[in-house]
Amino acid sequence: MLEAHFNVFLRENKLKLLSIRSFKNGKLWECIKTEFFGACLKCGSTKVVKAGKCSTTVREEPLREKPVWLKIHKHRVYCKDCKKTSTEPVDGIWPRRRSTQRFRKFIAKKCGTMSDISTVSAFESVSFGFVHKVYYEQAAIKLKEYQSASHWPTTLGIDEHFFRRTMGFTEFVTLFTDLNKKRVFELALGKDNKSLLEQLLHIPGRLNVKLVVIDMSSSYKALVKKLFPNAEIIADKFHVMRLFTPHIMKAGKEIHGHRQELKTRRKLLCSRKKLDYFVRYDIDQYLKQHTDLNELYRWKERLFEIYRMKGFNRAKKAFNKMLHQMSQSKLEAVQKVFRTFKRWKNEILRYFKFGYTNAYTERMNGTGKLVQRRAFGYKNFKNYRLRFLSVLPDT
Ligand SMILES: [Zn+2]
Repeated sequence: MLEAHFNVFLRENKLKLLSIRSFKNGKLWECIKTEFFGACLKCGSTKVVKAGKCSTTVREEPLREKPVWLKIHKHRVYCKDCKKTSTEPVDGIWPRRRSTQRFRKFIAKKCGTMSDISTVSAFESVSFGFVHKVYYEQAAIKLKEYQSASHWPTTLGIDEHFFRRTMGFTEFVTLFTDLNKKRVFELALGKDNKSLLEQLLHIPGRLNVKLVVIDMSSSYKALVKKLFPNAEIIADKFHVMRLFTPHIMKAGKEIHGHRQELKTRRKLLCSRKKLDYFVRYDIDQYLKQHTDLNELYRWKERLFEIYRMKGFNRAKKAFNKMLHQMSQSKLEAVQKVFRTFKRWKNEILRYFKFGYTNAYTERMNGTGKLVQRRAFGYKNFKNYRLRFLSVLPDT
């Protein structure tokens, strides 16, 4: 009965159980190959003959938390065409490997549930190097399956986040997300056009990209123009809305000689609509004494108001009016924001047509940081990319 059960376990590998005995801290199953593999692995010829016996011992997935090894009796094979001897392959074990694919998958899965690689290594009594190798190998296999049929999505979000600091330079990675499916699409090292183009040009379907959401960086704008010629750019709402923030902070600093305390700062930056009547009254009283800060505050509120509007035409009209009035302001800070607005006017207004923001991309940036923290930082971008892309979709 028990033997029959074990044979089911081994059937996938076309093996038959002979005996079980203790081995190291687990069990050793002795088995024999049931079918002869009648072909040469080197040249593919079928003119092969058996040339003596041999055996190999490989690690198998543990049973009831006890490690299991398979001692497999098989044949050596002589090929009449290329006149070389080799050993028979076994299903589920790759050539020259000392463990079954099933065991490797098991270890990779453990890496997802246990806190770190050292713990997996200690619990399953395998070396650290083996776990590390198997983990990224399995991640690469999984990612290949997932990305084999992938094309650029029609709606894309682009943003960057910190990767590491080396030799005094800070390295960033650029994240590409599918905003319709809410899925991470690709991760590339660097944020300059040259290195990004090198990494991304091979992915098919760039011409299908219709909309791209970016923060207001001119380098990403240039990248989008080159990489996705048919795409329209949307400036991310969050980044537009906070354009006045540094100027309001600076004005506060000029009044008080230091950075304003958090409470007041938050009140000034918060949307007026969310505040109580009395708080709004307090703000108005405070701003009466500071005309410059007052002006910045009113412009900020004006922008928030526009973002609350529904409909492209209404927003366009209001935004144009605001731009016209801003151009007459005497404040240098206002002029600065005005110039940015003028440069990005179409991109900002496009938000009201399509309604896409980069919120999802920013969220995945946060997740990327978590992935990094969990591994105590990554040195190797390749591994970080594998971890981030292949493991995230099913968490
Ligand atoms: Zn051969």
